[in-house]
Amino acid sequence: MDTQTIPTQRRTAADYKSALRPVWCPGCGDYGVLTSLLKAFAELNLEPENIALVSGIGCSSRMPAYTRAYGFHGVHGRALAIASGVKLARPDLTVVATGGDGDGFSIGGNHFLHACRRNIDMTYVVMDNQVYGMTKGQASPTTDDDWEGSKLTPEGTGITPFSPLSIALASGANFIARCLSRDINRTANTIVEAIQHPGFSFVQILSPCITYHPEHQKEWRDLVEGTPFAPTQDPVAAASTLMSDSGFTLGVLYQGQRTPYAPATTGRATVSSLQEKFLL
Ligand code: SF4
Repeated sequence: MDTQTIPTQRRTAADYKSALRPVWCPGCGDYGVLTSLLKAFAELNLEPENIALVSGIGCSSRMPAYTRAYGFHGVHGRALAIASGVKLARPDLTVVATGGDGDGFSIGGNHFLHACRRNIDMTYVVMDNQVYGMTKGQASPTTDDDWEGSKLTPEGTGITPFSPLSIALASGANFIARCLSRDINRTANTIVEAIQHPGFSFVQILSPCITYHPEHQKEWRDLVEGTPFAPTQDPVAAASTLMSDSGFTLGVLYQGQRTPYAPATTGRATVSSLQEKFLL
């Protein structure tokens, strides 16, 4: 973490930005998501040292390095497991996990299901570009079945794509939303709502990979539905909405009322106390 002193007055997005310049390709959707995330932190006026930003592996999982929050750039697909541990050990922190569709829904798919089910009070932001960008363009769980852009699947995968919002709802996530990366202010506001909502909040952000999946992702801005989701607390109504979802409706779909999982903590372990137990 950058140790530069931050004034205690109202912060701006710039106060949460690290000195590192992102190495994403020019035009990558993840730039917009980074800006939205920084704006959301500023809107909530969080102390940077009270934010834990956890990620897995992939282009979008570089996110913690570009903020001044405490960050953990972890193991592929394990962001939610690490974030869960952080939140259970330090319930006072604002815990946000970030990553991509491959990291979150394939390698980390099991963790995604159980994070929704456990309903620990944290937020999961997935930058969904329907491709593995960092490893040069393989199909991911959310890739359309007929996408012919990958050399590994030149005739398409032929496999029905994963439906993140439906899976999140069925697995018990307490807040579910979809955004578009270039829609920066609305995305920032949605992240604010997600952080403030108790329990496990899931935000899918359509975030184009202009290098490995540029064809129709440039058209996403035109495909987005004019009418956003009507937020509901009723999971049946949310499920009904998803039955006719085009994949391009934005906004908050579901605001559940389930009590978050928050077992009593037994005191904070220190490195030396862990070491003592280990050496016994
Ligand atoms: Fe973004 Fe794709 Fe480049 Fe990765 S490969 S930085 S996802 S545009």
